[in-house]
Amino acid sequence: MKDQKLLSALPKVDQVLDHPLMTAMLKELPKVILLKAVREHLDELRNVILADKGLAPEDLALEAVADKSAQKARELARPSLREVVNATGVVVHTNLGRSLLAESALKRLLALNISYSNLEYDLEKGKRGSRYSHVEGILKELTGAEAALVVNNNAAAVYLALQTLAVGKEVVLSRGQMVEIGGSFRIPDVMARSGAILKAVGATNKTHLHDYENAITEETGLLLKVHTSNFAIVGFHKEVPLSELKELGQRYDLPVMEDLGSGCLVDFATLGLPTEPTVLDSLKQGADIVTFSGDKLLGGPQAGIILGDKNLVEKLKKNPVNRAFRIDKFTLAALEATLELYRDQSKALAEIPTLRMISSTYRELTARAAALARRINNLNLDEVEAVTENGVSRVGGGALPLAEPRTKLVRVRVKGLSATRLESHFRAFSKPVICRLEDGRVLLDVRTLQKGDANIIVEAVKQAVQQSAE
Ligand SMILES: *Cc1c(COP(=O)(O)O)cnc(C)c1O
Repeated sequence: MKDQKLLSALPKVDQVLDHPLMTAMLKELPKVILLKAVREHLDELRNVILADKGLAPEDLALEAVADKSAQKARELARPSLREVVNATGVVVHTNLGRSLLAESALKRLLALNISYSNLEYDLEKGKRGSRYSHVEGILKELTGAEAALVVNNNAAAVYLALQTLAVGKEVVLSRGQMVEIGGSFRIPDVMARSGAILKAVGATNKTHLHDYENAITEETGLLLKVHTSNFAIVGFHKEVPLSELKELGQRYDLPVMEDLGSGCLVDFATLGLPTEPTVLDSLKQGADIVTFSGDKLLGGPQAGIILGDKNLVEKLKKNPVNRAFRIDKFTLAALEATLELYRDQSKALAEIPTLRMISSTYRELTARAAALARRINNLNLDEVEAVTENGVSRVGGGALPLAEPRTKLVRVRVKGLSATRLESHFRAFSKPVICRLEDGRVLLDVRTLQKGDANIIVEAVKQAVQQSAE
């Protein structure tokens, strides 16, 4: 009976909707969202009453119900895909959107999407043109490749190449390179789906040239090398250099393909990082087809870039499957602008966010970490303490797996909040702050922070303190 009394004390939907707290929200949110929020909140209250979970009478007051409904409406209206602060120090963070675009790429993308463009129009001839023509020229210029084709992502590039060049034929690949990239991309599975037949050779740790040669038969269509981008084998190990595979391919008249994965256009060794094979190396060593991502170390939009022999690339272009992997104009616009920056390496390092973050110096990072810690401590909240400590960042995106660039971390402590609770407060903030949780410590790596992120972090700390006091 107590239940009945409480249930009948629940405000009606219309009463809540007419409350000033709700009517004020009509300016920013559509009525359907408000209605949904009210209904959901009332349902929740009803369930609490029926489960006899002990509801305080003040929770049923119209004001309280309207307030909670308004909060729920804001949550319901929030987009699913949102901006976050990357405080993990993983630069090419696959879960957080991989690469950020350079300012100029962003501007180009915007301009070409609020105006019509010559996407598939030849301005000289006044006739239909090809969307593929736009970045082919600059890719050839930057890499010296004979031909280029760009598709939706590198997985599509690999699939298209195998499907075009080796359907029904055997593809010789070292057992040490049968890799899985995050998100279920596995070379053997992709190969099976493409219709090519995997001919694995060698052992996990060692493959010799004669292993490849012994596997070549009438059925062979392609020699493949896959860059082991997200792990490294150390110790007793050997893989065959691409140049030797090329020489073998020439003897047997077989094309040689390299899936580079990350595919960079700058030499990271000059930045004091481990060597990552560049696109130029791959072409120089004779790869007939090279594939790599646009949004890993290149620092552009999501795309799959295919470079190489003119006749082979032409075949890929003409494969009807290519249409399914067609690159869109957003990507083309951003990619062309990103590539333009590579005409001057110092400009690329300064303006492409991925490269800029990877090449940030320890000195610069130390100053930024000290400034962030100071700002947090200057909140003068008794419960909060921020200190800096040494650490290492990660390149991420399945590139440079052994690189551990030195960085400075800011460790944040809030009295009365465990590290896991603080981490979830950060994650629940209006612009979620994604941090590192290590051995019970909440750590912020300043390497991957963007302009304005320090302000967000300071606000998130304030809110965590407030909520922990409630
Ligand atoms: C990342 C990667 C891929 C997949 O590239 P996407 O652009 O994510 O589709 C394929 N091969 C290798 C070696 C990679 O590192």
